[in-house]
Amino acid sequence: MNPNQLRKLAEEHGTPLFIVDHEELRRNCAEFKKYLPRVQPYYAVKANPDPAIVKTLYEAGASFDVASMPEFDIVHKNIQHMPPKQRQKWIWDKIIYANPIKAIEALTQLDFYKPLVTYDNLEEIKKLKEYAPNAGLALRIKVPNTGAMVELSSKFGADPGEAVDLILAADRAGFTVEGLSFHVGSQTTNFENYVQAINLAANVFKDVRARGYTKMNLLDIGGGFPAPYDESVKSFRVLAKKINTELNRLFPREIEILAEPGRFMIATAGTSVVKINGKAVRDGKLCYYVNDGVYHTYSGIIFDHCHYHMKSFRKGPEQVCAVFGPTCDALDVISMSETLPTDLELGELLYSENIGAYSHASSTYFNGFPPAKVVHVNQFPATRKKSSGNPGT
Ligand SMILES: *Cc1c(COP(=O)(O)O)cnc(C)c1O
Repeated sequence: MNPNQLRKLAEEHGTPLFIVDHEELRRNCAEFKKYLPRVQPYYAVKANPDPAIVKTLYEAGASFDVASMPEFDIVHKNIQHMPPKQRQKWIWDKIIYANPIKAIEALTQLDFYKPLVTYDNLEEIKKLKEYAPNAGLALRIKVPNTGAMVELSSKFGADPGEAVDLILAADRAGFTVEGLSFHVGSQTTNFENYVQAINLAANVFKDVRARGYTKMNLLDIGGGFPAPYDESVKSFRVLAKKINTELNRLFPREIEILAEPGRFMIATAGTSVVKINGKAVRDGKLCYYVNDGVYHTYSGIIFDHCHYHMKSFRKGPEQVCAVFGPTCDALDVISMSETLPTDLELGELLYSENIGAYSHASSTYFNGFPPAKVVHVNQFPATRKKSSGNPGT
């Protein structure tokens, strides 16, 4: 978004402000579908669960990955037009419950919907048998997360060597294992992770078929698609080409391919605007104190290992500065080295781009400071087409 527009919104709504550009959401979703034509995106709601975001992505033809009942409810409430008789087929097309370890309370509520859920161990099969016997299953396998910004393979995923046994165990328990899922790690810039993961999955498909199990018809290639935070991130087209080549080589057309992009959809659609509350020189360094920080929109600095740049709306003599959040905790540091004008005054504004993912979603009320106000722009397409993204099929 252009700086003038950002400043106008901040003047109108106050700060701290979190701006969601829905045109950018639609662009990201369209890019995903264009370059990965075989792959249906299931937006990972945890990246930013705002209902307006869910609605826009639904209109753009996305499905959803949820990991808790509150997330399930957000999606369920915001995507309608569901003929009840098609409930089972419909829910799988639109929602996957992709938390390998599920609460019993969640399963008892979910079972009604005959959900598609992931699992990665024997205890989970026992729990599912008791509390969600109508679920369809996808086995999450562990794949290399080399070079991802956020590593996930130490927490979830069955060793590929155990995969066949886990699929046959679920089969014996009366479940249909629909297919496999994996996650290569969030913000994966090492594209070989996807190549290796798709190959590992293809081997499991082959091995389990050799053991007589032929019901698998779905591959979920997870999240991890990187946002273009800086020039070092190679283009999505390059990644998509690699993925398409492997999918077409190893998985016949009738295998349904899903993905769970979170960051890719929302990161570039979010912008934060903050106000300077204070200014001091400490140990020779100019420090700006602003009204948003790591307990709020900048939480990704801690939880997501992400860096966000601070930009000024105007030029001036520059220096490397520190930028601190509003709370009294010394952890509340946005940056120890941002190049900013030295003559900014109290009350002036700064902004950060590409801060849509894993940011506002993990805001707290710590120290009495509430999360930033959210403003949605370009929420509705200029010319509303008949919802092309939602085939009711
Ligand atoms: C967090 C998560 C995602 C989204 O990951 P991104 O890296 O943001 O694309 C997808 N699937 C699962 C199971 C997740 O836990």
